[in-house]
Amino acid sequence: MLGLMQSQPLSISALLRHAARHHGTCEIVSKTVEGDLHRYTWSEAERRCRRLARALQGLGISAGDRVGTLAWNGYRHLEVYYAAPGMAAICHTINPRLHPDDIAYIVNHAGDAVLFAETSFTGLIEAIAPHIAGTVRAVVMMTDPAHMPVLPLPAGMKLLCYDTLIDGSDDDYAWPSFDENTASALCYTSGTTGRPKGVLYSHRSTLLHAYAANLADALALRAIDRVLPVVPMFHVNAWGVPYAAAMSGASLVMPGRHLDGPSLETLMNQERVTVTAGVPTVWMGLLQHLRGSGTRLDTVKRIITGGSACPPLLIEAFGREYGIPVEHAWGMTEISPIGTYNRPKPAHEALDEAGVFQLALKQGRILPGLDMKIVDGEDRELPWDGVAFGDLKIRGPWVTSGYYGDPPGSAVDAGGWFMTGDVATIDPNGMMEITDRSKDVIKSGGEWISSITLENIAVSHPDVVEAAVIAARHPKWDERPLLLVVPKPGATVTPESVLALYEGKVAKWWLPDEILVVDALPHTATGKLQKTALRSTYQDYYLTKLS
Ligand code: ADP
Repeated sequence: MLGLMQSQPLSISALLRHAARHHGTCEIVSKTVEGDLHRYTWSEAERRCRRLARALQGLGISAGDRVGTLAWNGYRHLEVYYAAPGMAAICHTINPRLHPDDIAYIVNHAGDAVLFAETSFTGLIEAIAPHIAGTVRAVVMMTDPAHMPVLPLPAGMKLLCYDTLIDGSDDDYAWPSFDENTASALCYTSGTTGRPKGVLYSHRSTLLHAYAANLADALALRAIDRVLPVVPMFHVNAWGVPYAAAMSGASLVMPGRHLDGPSLETLMNQERVTVTAGVPTVWMGLLQHLRGSGTRLDTVKRIITGGSACPPLLIEAFGREYGIPVEHAWGMTEISPIGTYNRPKPAHEALDEAGVFQLALKQGRILPGLDMKIVDGEDRELPWDGVAFGDLKIRGPWVTSGYYGDPPGSAVDAGGWFMTGDVATIDPNGMMEITDRSKDVIKSGGEWISSITLENIAVSHPDVVEAAVIAARHPKWDERPLLLVVPKPGATVTPESVLALYEGKVAKWWLPDEILVVDALPHTATGKLQKTALRSTYQDYYLTKLS
């Protein structure tokens, strides 16, 4: 027997209508490419989204069509975020930091019909335009007529101005209702292993993710919050913040392309930001600026970090020096992206300060709706003892089942489990801790060594800004850890002083065999350490040395 409750399909336009109707005066503040601040409300945003939907119709966009974006966090990007899915089309956010060849590949693979781009990407578009002319019919520059760039495009590809399009469109559009499993957004992984792969979200997965993300033990956004997503909207939907904010009626403060410490501090203080979310590299830049300038964050109550392991120093410094807790979340493009969030359980109430700090380093416990497990090489589940580490698998309604263009179910095993590519422990309280990417773990004499643990210790050195541990091949042990450290500008770091930090913290056989002091480390387009590049340079370091 079926229940007798109403069954409106879950839809992204309902989120926007909710924000406009019930939190209509809450603000969306955006730092534009031109450097000024634009401000309006959720209610005005909804009206402009209706105009944009009409404009998209005018460009021939209909249900299922892909609408590409090359844009920073700002109000026009937010409008495409809502207008395209609202009319059953798909908002395809593209990471502009990828190599132009990858961007052209992604646009063609997605089959984007229209590309919305900020003026800062004019040169990039000019370079890739000839390679995407088979699919892209129009490029819409996200600016006003006064700032339209000169951009020669191939024959048949139109150049349009965003504000002109909006101003010339009616706002009489009525958001349609359709199946909640309809695709809503598309985001490609950064392709650290081969070509980028597309993850295709649905209205249902997006709404369920937003509900779970907004629980009190996760992002917990409130109507009184002013949220600044530093994490880009082109990187896994800015961790779902644009949707979660509309759901709770929170105000959004969008930093545009200005992600350096001084710009963030000014924006946070001026706009009375209460919550912010981003990757550790950004928080490191902010911390250095605060320490250097003597400024403080007057209104920020929480900093959410994710995307890569959070260096202990960040949690310690923001907590002790500024009284701001750093909350750790974990996820990935394939999980919409939030999978776990670190908030305490009753078992943690008795922890002393050191215990609380150790706990904060963990990536957290699963969001309700998802499930996770760790398995060994034979897919046998490992115990939740906080010690055993194995491949982390996850499943649930906001986890991908197959990549764009592949059949449903092709990315998961028979039980519906998705292999994350991360290696983790889970403790008896269900707290998960990432110990490595499976391709980065060091396999020494049949035992595993966590590169992240070794890196975290290295960056606790007062003169080290960044560290990377890679598995270098070894004639006796198969692989041994090789540590590379980058000193602070003007500082000198000796390998001995770094090695001394490991004393009593890890088993002797975990110690890096060698420590190299280097000027810089390579990064991916999403700001993570590019270990593939390091491996190709250094993987034979010990073999060459010992032969
Ligand atoms: P990509 O895999 O293309 O770099 P994602 O943003 O999807 O892009 O990255 C997901 C990966 O980032 C995870 O599988 C994990 O390795 C890493 N990651 C995300 N959050 C954390 C975290 N809090 N701690 C450690 N690693 C993290």
